[in-house]
Amino acid sequence: MDVKNNDLNVQCYCCGYFTLSERGQYEICDVCFWEDDGCFDLEKISHPNHMTLEKGRKNFLEFGACEERFIKNVIKNPEGKYRKAILKV
Ligand SMILES: [Zn+2]
Repeated sequence: MDVKNNDLNVQCYCCGYFTLSERGQYEICDVCFWEDDGCFDLEKISHPNHMTLEKGRKNFLEFGACEERFIKNVIKNPEGKYRKAILKV
């Protein structure tokens, strides 16, 4: 069983965790601090995030947040709280 204590079922495009309740509502992801603008284009600059999704993902893999200054804002051990799935590009 892989049921977490939340009913969030929209996946963050940046980190792949299910941290959002709705797509494109500018919710901030708890896990990587990406702001969901609903855009799934890796190479387009995401205005609320001031970078491309590709860059945000790379940063998340590198240091655990979409941007270095958000490292202190993201939750630790997200796997205990959120489901995760492979992102389909
Ligand atoms: Zn995220």
